[in-house]
Amino acid sequence: MQYGDCVKSKPLLLLNIRQLLTMRSVAPGPRRGPALSDLGILESAAVLCLAGKIVSVGTTKDALRDPWLKKNRKKIIELDCRGRVVLPGFVDSHTHPVFTLARLVDFEKRISGASYEEIAEAGGGIRASIEGVRKASKAALTKKVFAALADLAGHGTTTVEAKSGYGLDLESELKSLEAIRAAAREWPGTVVPTFLGAHAVPPEYRGRSQHYVDLVCDEMIPAVAKHKLAQFVDVFCDHGAFSADETAQIFTAAEKHGLAVRAHMGQLSETRLGPLLRYQPASLDHMDHVNDADLPALAQSDTIATFVPGANYFLGLSKYPDARRFIEAGVAVALATDYNPGSSPTLSMPMALSLACTHMKMSPPEAIAAATINGAWALRLAGCKGSVEPGKDADLAVFDASDYREIPYWFGGNRCLLTIMNGVPSGRSFANHAL
Ligand SMILES: [Zn+2]
Repeated sequence: MQYGDCVKSKPLLLLNIRQLLTMRSVAPGPRRGPALSDLGILESAAVLCLAGKIVSVGTTKDALRDPWLKKNRKKIIELDCRGRVVLPGFVDSHTHPVFTLARLVDFEKRISGASYEEIAEAGGGIRASIEGVRKASKAALTKKVFAALADLAGHGTTTVEAKSGYGLDLESELKSLEAIRAAAREWPGTVVPTFLGAHAVPPEYRGRSQHYVDLVCDEMIPAVAKHKLAQFVDVFCDHGAFSADETAQIFTAAEKHGLAVRAHMGQLSETRLGPLLRYQPASLDHMDHVNDADLPALAQSDTIATFVPGANYFLGLSKYPDARRFIEAGVAVALATDYNPGSSPTLSMPMALSLACTHMKMSPPEAIAAATINGAWALRLAGCKGSVEPGKDADLAVFDASDYREIPYWFGGNRCLLTIMNGVPSGRSFANHAL
């Protein structure tokens, strides 16, 4: 992986795009219902980027006739897309990249039918990741996060939300967030850090979860806010993790310290959403188990329901979130990888799209909107990310496809040829400027 920082200052022109999915805005706010299917496709398109921003979007014919472009052609880096598909870089709004090792014990044990408790007794489960992160140096964690960011970019992702949550003590959570910050500085894409101290009750607080919640609220959140290490506070709100009351307590502390909130919700069991929507969470993620009666309030809010079908796939579940029920109720939905070592070890947004189409009956256009513009809404970055429009950040992905539906269709491989992150191209094909 090499990043062409040297070219950031030069204008970059993408030409001969068969389908450019502009995702240009059709109405204010996140996409809902039929608007999810409007990709704003421009054919035979061209995009001009300058100083990390998109400056114009149009047809290749018009671009080549433009007097400014004609005059400055020698100064411009041209990328001939040769009839391929270009879309806004994916916005992966849910990842857990700060861990040291794969959880192979869990993997094999689960295949052989072991329960969660049996896996934990065999030395697996979240405890294995906690030990790894607590023992690791910040430099080692930074290296791991950077490797994940580079791999994400290789699959077409240009904006990533990255959570802490395997340290679960003050020092290790701050170390995790510092590793995210250090890795983000080396990566041309955009990283949104999230503090997930309330991921699980760590072993030393077993049976005393209220004490741990107090530690999260009274020590961890103030320290994270003071050092500006995160934009969001996340809570795993579920049976066996944190209750709705504990989540509300943590959200209140986050609010007090000027941090926005989001939550893991409804993965294993149903929690009523009303009391938590009051905190205007940016997103509620998983959403396998949600009460029908909560959908109207969710649809009236700007909270995004983010589905992470990679977790359902990897845990071998036959049931997936009922995306159609949410879309038909007018809820704004997004898709993310949930990259993590226990339940979703994938960095591939195209794989998440494929699962959303095949197992959740989302149409290919709906899945693409959920993975781009609505992902940007889930991170409160829709003003600069998630669509290809003048003034927005130059975040693009070029796929080896002549029709966008091929992105979820060719599952399990990687057809991303190139990503452009804040105007910086990177990918297998960039070295000779030929795609
Ligand atoms: Zn997660």
